[in-house]
Amino acid sequence: MFPCTSCGLCCQNIADITELKDFNLGNGVCKHFNLINNSCNIYDNRPDICKVDKMFEIKYFKYFTKKDFYIENAKVCNELQNQYKLNDSYKVKIGE
Ligand code: SF4
Ligand code: SF4
Repeated sequence: MFPCTSCGLCCQNIADITELKDFNLGNGVCKHFNLINNSCNIYDNRPDICKVDKMFEIKYFKYFTKKDFYIENAKVCNELQNQYKLNDSYKVKIGE
């Protein structure tokens, strides 16, 4: 499973994700993101686009090995975390 550290930043930066355009509050934050506990209010019913492993299974296995797909996703996570100056403890590490 993708080693998400639950930083919550992907859910606050959905403006460029077409599949989530109806979820965008207008500032890039998903309407289902719970700012108080930093989690998804519809976690068990969230769309596939929000699930790294599911997206690999249904689409990205055609283009990447699973490890490379994880690495690409982790780059996005870690870049967001750098932008927000998040503590290093949230860094997503793949095979390190
Ligand atoms: S940005 Fe990455 S580490 Fe943070 S919640 Fe999203 S998937 Fe998890
Ligand atoms: S539906 Fe949930 S997991 Fe998906 S972007 Fe919104 S808050 Fe995040």
